Amino acid sequence: MDNKKNNPPICSYEDSDYQSSFWDKGGREYEDRVEAVALKRLLPKGGRLLLELGAGAGRNTPRYTGYERIVLLDYSHTQLEQAQQRLGRSGKYVYVAADLYRLPFIKGLFDTATMIRVLHHMTDAPKALEQVWNVMQLDGTFILEFANKLNLKSMLRYWFGRQAWSPFTPEQVEFARLNFDFHPKTVRNWLTNLGFRIEKTLTVSHFRMGILKRTLPTPLLVFLDSIFQWTGAIFQWTPSVFVKARGGSRESVPGDRENVLAFFKCPECGHAPLENNRTYLLCPKCRNKWEIKDGIYDFREPVNG
Ligand SMILES: [Zn+2]
Repeated sequence: MDNKKNNPPICSYEDSDYQSSFWDKGGREYEDRVEAVALKRLLPKGGRLLLELGAGAGRNTPRYTGYERIVLLDYSHTQLEQAQQRLGRSGKYVYVAADLYRLPFIKGLFDTATMIRVLHHMTDAPKALEQVWNVMQLDGTFILEFANKLNLKSMLRYWFGRQAWSPFTPEQVEFARLNFDFHPKTVRNWLTNLGFRIEKTLTVSHFRMGILKRTLPTPLLVFLDSIFQWTGAIFQWTPSVFVKARGGSRESVPGDRENVLAFFKCPECGHAPLENNRTYLLCPKCRNKWEIKDGIYDFREPVNG
């Protein structure tokens, strides 16, 4: 069964200097710090196994302090290599290169999942969210960040005739190739249709405007944003929205949470467990081989032959 051909295109950060150009030198200290505030407010105090979807170079990973083990998933191998350099190769971190539309994990594995600045790149967001639901245990915690089309800036631009698309309609807008903004109500519907219960909504980055960021001190903007974040419970007009939802697969089997190899299933045919051959994991059913190299499990393309 090759379900891959039917999959939507992937926005890959392979060989990109995203961490350095966007975060470290990109004047985004404010965005980074207000995200940290929101995460702290939404994350459970701790847990056993957290899945970080679209972990990139591990910018947020050190913030998941209460977790025994963290699985960093990204499509880009090079981003994961950067994360490894930052976080090291201890057993606490598991690095997985995989496609979000074909997660290589058994059902009901994770007690928590986070997905920050990732939905933004999903052509088929409901399909990706369904994958997350499947790998989460019953009543797990899912923290989702999405880019909001209904933000104040886009409303003003629309009213002043400087933007063709309406921020008020439910469909997503692709403002650059593989970059999407979503309507908050649409995202809520996707989540609740899957069975998630939304517990909290925070609005983030209220002051993401060049002129404010240049003229006001960052700590002041962070302080103000952290107060305004709570208004997300009532209305969402910021470019970024964080949602805490509860849910997860009812079919969860109490697998072995200590043995990393027992986490995986074949992304091609769904079979688990896979056989460990040191440099690759073999699927005994469809015979595909998934490479293990430099401490990264690679489920993007099989290494058959
Ligand atoms: Zn298989």
